Amino acid sequence: MFPSFSLRYARLPARLRVDCLPTPVTEPRLVAFNRELAEELGFDVEAFDAERAAEVFAGNAVPEGAEPLAMAYAGHQFGNFVPQLGDGRALLLGEVVDRRGRLRDLQLKGSGRTPFSRGGDGRAPLGPVLREYLVSEAMHAMGIPTTRALAAVTTGERVFRRIPEPGAVLTRVAASHLRVGTFQYFAARRDTEAVQLLADEAIDRHYPDLPGELAEVEAGERYLALLEAVVGRQAELVARWMGIGFIHGVMNTDNTSISGETIDYGPCAFMDAYDPRTVFSSIDERGRYAYLNQPVIAQWNLARFAETLLPLIDDDSDRAIARATSVIEAFTERFDSCWQAVLRAKLGLATREEGDGALAQDLLDAMQAGKADFTLAFRRLADALDGPEGEARLAALFDGHEALAAWLPRWRERLAREDVDEAEIARRLRGTNPAVIPRNHRVEQALAAAAEEDDFAPFEALLAVITRPFEEPAGEVDYTRPPHDSEKVLRTFCGT
Ligand code: AMP
Ligand code: MG
Repeated sequence: MFPSFSLRYARLPARLRVDCLPTPVTEPRLVAFNRELAEELGFDVEAFDAERAAEVFAGNAVPEGAEPLAMAYAGHQFGNFVPQLGDGRALLLGEVVDRRGRLRDLQLKGSGRTPFSRGGDGRAPLGPVLREYLVSEAMHAMGIPTTRALAAVTTGERVFRRIPEPGAVLTRVAASHLRVGTFQYFAARRDTEAVQLLADEAIDRHYPDLPGELAEVEAGERYLALLEAVVGRQAELVARWMGIGFIHGVMNTDNTSISGETIDYGPCAFMDAYDPRTVFSSIDERGRYAYLNQPVIAQWNLARFAETLLPLIDDDSDRAIARATSVIEAFTERFDSCWQAVLRAKLGLATREEGDGALAQDLLDAMQAGKADFTLAFRRLADALDGPEGEARLAALFDGHEALAAWLPRWRERLAREDVDEAEIARRLRGTNPAVIPRNHRVEQALAAAAEEDDFAPFEALLAVITRPFEEPAGEVDYTRPPHDSEKVLRTFCGT
């Protein structure tokens, strides 16, 4: 059933990892399987046998050709450096080449203890596994770079967090699991050779268009170019997150992917009413990872990445610092230009004008003042172009209509210079601004039904609509609706 493994990471020097087998569980049961993704990865889906799949995705059987390993990494957690983290409850099975020729990591998360587990049990509760499944698949459907979810199994065992919960294992697919923290682990040990190997691996896998192997004197350029490329991807990624109201929640350097994918969905959540200060995570007491802080934090994380590359950039450390600093400083501009592009698209603009940024900001300000739902306000811009009834549906989202009423004619005037008719703009808007996102209250309801009542129907129904985010969902349950007061999720728990 499995495609053959490439074992790239397993063939890198031994000190980058610890070989380790998953710990079998008592009663593996497959509760979610991503058939479409499996096909993309080259699985023989026809030969699919749910029982065998449950065994493999639970870690009870290691697929043929896999050599499971725990990756070593360090990381800054909420600003504090931890020199050794590593995969404490995850194992890389190996890499497969997908149908488009891309190398993809297959990882089990929740598969038991490893030498990096510290005090942890190596396990994952069902709730967080299903949350990662739902949110990562929704992100993918919205076109945002992310790890994917291939399968979820329950283990038949309980894990103990705030309360006992059913245990589960997620099979995650990533462009790679190289993190800023992976580089930090070796940089902290002054193992420049390992840092260079990782940098070469990152270039090979994620940035193959960078200048190739160059003469020694120019090698610094290559690693500076890597830094610049990662800066570019992270700037774009965070701008894309913000465009859908996504808050990662734990933007530690060990959760910052070198490939530019969203990784490690913990207490992540989507904003309902627009407020740039929104924080959900229960462990983010000071709001370090609040919605609006995300670009600043991404830049901070990239500065930590830059530090690891300094010895590769220039033998002269002052020169290396000066060169890396200018790349890190350029993040601000990169981010701003990505963010402006995201906002223009959200307003239906394909051309660029001086005043576009202010136009977008004024709408955001009106949304904040009027406590408007972020997702619906953008979605209903298209309705407003359909006529007065649509405009009323948009206005209904705002407490107090003056700011919006003043804004709409300015927007219309700007749209008139787009050279396409309003029907075309409405079409664009509906392809950019999602109708459905995995709203926190719906996610919590689906997780609770699965964990408390072994009822996966709400999870499946939610998954079906959020993987078609630009379609108006039909059916009894209104997945587009913001939470009622009693349904509001104010805090998300890490629940690792
Ligand atoms: P995370 O919060 O999932 O990004 O994890 C941060 C670090 O803690 C990583 O090194 C994880 O492997 C480790 N970790 C998280 N939960 C557990 C657990 N239940 N058992 C062992 N290690 C864990
Ligand atoms: Mg993590």
